[in-house]
Amino acid sequence: MKLVFATNNQNKLAEVQKMLPDSIELLSLKDINCFDDIEETATTLEGNAQIKADYITEKFGYNCFADDTGLEVEALNGAPGVYSARYAGEPSNSESNMQKLLTELNDKTNRKAQFRTSICLNLDGKQFFFDGICRGEILLQKQGEHGFGYDPVFQPEEHNKSFAEMTSEEKNKISHRGLAIQQLVAFLKSID
Ligand code: IMP
Repeated sequence: MKLVFATNNQNKLAEVQKMLPDSIELLSLKDINCFDDIEETATTLEGNAQIKADYITEKFGYNCFADDTGLEVEALNGAPGVYSARYAGEPSNSESNMQKLLTELNDKTNRKAQFRTSICLNLDGKQFFFDGICRGEILLQKQGEHGFGYDPVFQPEEHNKSFAEMTSEEKNKISHRGLAIQQLVAFLKSID
């Protein structure tokens, strides 16, 4: 079965392909000649994942899944959440996003936060959702050089280093996206 992952991120694609049974051939947006800018206009992670998956299924006719991720900070009532990529405005910039977050939390003692990934899967006319959560806290300052986005300021629970101080293998095992993808893969294997 051919299955589109609505991404052009080769790292994400390779990571998921490795976990899937050989009977499932994963295709990227480029593989299906989709170069459209799919606007993420929903107010929830689930909504944005659904917009992307539906766009591909409706326009190209493929079974497809899409993911959307946000950082939800307790003292900020769940912000930046679905707006994580453009928290400090457009164009999206990780450095300014982290600076804004550290400033907003300056006077806050509660630094609890979680990353959440929602995946929407369109399979043979049915729709399924999967969720992955990684709880932790926002550090007082940036630590580490690896990863991307908010990794230098996020420390997962029961670890004493930030995501940016972990190898990608270490991070994938416990990350929001890793957990959501594990659920998706378990589901696909169960119906294989
Ligand atoms: P996306 O839905 O994967 O594009 O993620 C939206 C935004 O959330 C990104 O632009 C990053 O700012 C942030 N983000 C998503 N996943 C991670 C992660 O694993 N570490 C740090 N930041 C992330």
